[in-house]
Amino acid sequence: GWDLKGLLKRNWLLIATIVSVLLGIGLGVLVRDYASLSHLDKQYFGFPGDILMRMLKLVILPLIISSMITGVAALDSDVSGKIGLRAVVYYLTTTIIAVILGIALVITIKPGVSQKAENIDRTEITQNVNTVDTLLDLVRNMFPENIVLRSLNITKDYIIVGSYSDGLNVLGLIVFCVAFGLVIGKMGERGRILLEFFDALNEATMRLVQIIMCYMPVGILFLIAAKIIEVEDWEIFRKLGMYMVTVLSGLAIHSIVFLPLIYFVIVRKNPYTFALGMAQALVTALMISSSSATLPVTFRCAEENLRIDKRITRFVLPVGATINMDGTALYEAVAAIFIAQINDYDLDVGQIVTISVTATVASVGAAGVPNAGFVTMVIVLTAVGLPANDVTLIIAVDWLLDRFRTMINVLGDAYGAGIVQKLSRRELERMDGTSDVTNPFAL
Ligand code: ASP
Repeated sequence: GWDLKGLLKRNWLLIATIVSVLLGIGLGVLVRDYASLSHLDKQYFGFPGDILMRMLKLVILPLIISSMITGVAALDSDVSGKIGLRAVVYYLTTTIIAVILGIALVITIKPGVSQKAENIDRTEITQNVNTVDTLLDLVRNMFPENIVLRSLNITKDYIIVGSYSDGLNVLGLIVFCVAFGLVIGKMGERGRILLEFFDALNEATMRLVQIIMCYMPVGILFLIAAKIIEVEDWEIFRKLGMYMVTVLSGLAIHSIVFLPLIYFVIVRKNPYTFALGMAQALVTALMISSSSATLPVTFRCAEENLRIDKRITRFVLPVGATINMDGTALYEAVAAIFIAQINDYDLDVGQIVTISVTATVASVGAAGVPNAGFVTMVIVLTAVGLPANDVTLIIAVDWLLDRFRTMINVLGDAYGAGIVQKLSRRELERMDGTSDVTNPFAL
């Protein structure tokens, strides 16, 4: 019959995580309603969750370095070029589909039209960011001065600092690792030493991830409780209700209909079983709003549960976590048009096309950290001459939308790995057959 015990045993971590989300919501509501806490007391609630975030962020650096370098070096440059190309085509296609879906919804639902704008607080902020600077910044960060930190240029006097300015320069790191991996792959016998080193580093990091994941339910419980205690103004959710409905239904349609459909057409397997295998990563993304910090869990789900070839995951997942953000792209397009509607601003076709293109670019440029998509939205707004100040209308609900779009970003990367694996099966089989010296995974 039905093996309940086995099911529980295999999924204990996921079950524990979901239970801790529910407990966290309960705890948050209780403390919020019945305890009168000082500001400082509230901060203590966030502490266990903060530790979880720090641990996950800590392993990103060794994880990306070891996975990207071995991933690229293990494939000959011909094969890695093909896989890279397929991945990029997938990233772009799905991002554009997401943008178009978002635009179609926001134009139909019209969440910003006839809404009384005076109901919503507008705080004046001054900022001076133009599209060219932002794009140059993106390219500049692809060629970093050091492999770890993001170099700050225009962003330093940016009002909404924080998420965008601190943290790893993952894009620059990826560019470096691809170049380094290609070089190592071409070095022959001597390159093999390095390759084995990075492969062992990867294994060690993944074991560390396994340990961190045992702490995850505790961290998540307090993360969610602290958030519920901290939110000051729930009223804003009612005011921005239709806007949130538009974004969330777009994300739902993209992840329940479009992505699964593409997966099914190409891979011919059940896309929902696939998504279930990613459940732990999806819950994590929902809780911590960062594709980069979710990456360790994404790897584990894709490799352990879905058994996707490591030569694919090591390439497609880290790059995807950085540049493939379907949820973010959809959100940026919806938000920009929402702001236009609020301002009674009629957009012509050219401007809508501009919004589609800049939303795609802005999602590529957004780092996989909390609220990054919100910050890069300035690119979209300024491109069509909308008041960048109006981002303050939607900032109050961004922490919630951020969680859901991050979840869709992670899901999109996972489907990408499954699809690229299927499309690349011939190259992979060929490599398995030739027991290549540079391929440590061919066993
Ligand atoms: N938080 C998102 C992510 O990490 C990026 C965004 O803000 O849209 O994927």
